[in-house]
Amino acid sequence: MSVKNYSFFGAVERSFNKAAKFTKWDKGILEQIKECNAVYQMRFPVKKDDGTIEVIEAYRVQHSHHKTPCKGGIRFAAEVNQDEVMALAALMTYKCAIVNVPFGGGKGGIKINPRAYSAYELEKITRRYTAELIKKNFIGPGTDVPAPDYGTGEREMAWIVDTYTAMHPGEIDAAACVTGKPVTQGGVRGRREATGLGVFFGLREVCNMPDVMAKLGLTTGVEGKQVIVQGLGNVGYHSAKFFQDAGAKIVALAEYEGAIWSADGLNVDEVFNHRKSTGSILNFPGAKNFDKSTDALEMECDILIPAALENVIDGDNAPRIKAKMIGEAANGPLTPEADEVFAKKGILVVPDMYLNAGGVTVSYFEWLKNLSHVRYGRLEKRFTENLNTHILGQMESLTGKKVDKHEREFIMHGPDEVDLVYSGLEETMITATREIMDCWKNNADIPDMRTAAYVVAINKVGNSYAELGIFP
Ligand code: NAD
Repeated sequence: MSVKNYSFFGAVERSFNKAAKFTKWDKGILEQIKECNAVYQMRFPVKKDDGTIEVIEAYRVQHSHHKTPCKGGIRFAAEVNQDEVMALAALMTYKCAIVNVPFGGGKGGIKINPRAYSAYELEKITRRYTAELIKKNFIGPGTDVPAPDYGTGEREMAWIVDTYTAMHPGEIDAAACVTGKPVTQGGVRGRREATGLGVFFGLREVCNMPDVMAKLGLTTGVEGKQVIVQGLGNVGYHSAKFFQDAGAKIVALAEYEGAIWSADGLNVDEVFNHRKSTGSILNFPGAKNFDKSTDALEMECDILIPAALENVIDGDNAPRIKAKMIGEAANGPLTPEADEVFAKKGILVVPDMYLNAGGVTVSYFEWLKNLSHVRYGRLEKRFTENLNTHILGQMESLTGKKVDKHEREFIMHGPDEVDLVYSGLEETMITATREIMDCWKNNADIPDMRTAAYVVAINKVGNSYAELGIFP
């Protein structure tokens, strides 16, 4: 039985300290990188549908101002507390640094169970929260830009941008005050699935490294890999879907009400629709039920993807996990004790702080789109298509051969917004994976991939402070 005597932020600090030893920065710079720069705790009243008034507890934390704006999602959950928001904000700083997104880390949280409120009540809470952020200058295209997180999505982001715009009439860049918006409200195509797609690109890159796979006793590539996913929300659903589309087998899916398992593989969309129509993931035709959801995580598989909440794998259940590789799609799903167990067992943990950076990467693209006021691909799509048509015509007339219809469409296609977003994300995740792996390979004393990721992050933020100087 493990005893956890530190908080989530404490766990992040612990990982930071472990990695700081492998960097050249002096104590003062390391302290400055580690601490949260600003913590805003607020309380505000909301009148519920039944006429009663409830006082809501909420937070916004700006972990680092080494680059602005600050960036990070807003979480709606009953478990929200200051320590959690601080930890998540810190992870955002490191995450942005690793994927070269020029933001400081931030995070927001409202302590409510969103399922216990009507849509109208949630709208009032979200709009009031936004107004509180505006009052303290904790939101704005150049200061702090929230996004979705656990329990929030496009709908909440639309309420936020609408509230901000109403209170900043004429501010031309107002749409850039929040990301993860619906496309009709200034969002970017590809943002919804971005985190899950980033998880897939990151893990695929690791699976494509023959030396890493050989060490784990796995074959190279994603095809045929057996995958278990916890959480069928935004991140979990899309991670599972992209793995399935690439030829992996999703053998188990776990939700809070239970889990299901099938040796033949589960069809992610069918499970999703089954849950939507029956209200539960359980009793999916042909699958075995687990009433205790976490039991599914302990089944045989190649890759385990926790994509729900933090601290779900700890010193207690880690020894029973049979996966060869764990992809942290959620933030903080493993405790430091679990990390130690996996390091000893030779299980590879691909860390949250870069693996789930797809959301913030595409949020960055959305923010840039809002500031430039033009859709990606609008200027070059037709030009590229005309050029490709011309090149293809020349090739066909020189060779006397015709390219088949499918290939013709592929070659001639000029990029749409979603094509550019996907390719920007793919490039980002591949580069980050290689950078972290290289850092790890180049220093034999670095114990695990998480520590290597922290080293990369600390060096980038440290460099930024060194170049910036410290304001007197
Ligand atoms: P979400 O609300 O869309 O989905 C979370 C899912 O997990 C829900 O379906 C919920 O029912 C399920 N769940 C909750 N407790 C569970 C339990 N004990 N066992 C199994 N399932 C459980 O949230 P999300 O946006 O997918 O976020 C999930 C995680 O990914 C969080 O840790 C979040 O911080 C992280 N994350 C999200 C984004 C993003 O873009 N949304 C980006 C980076 C990281």
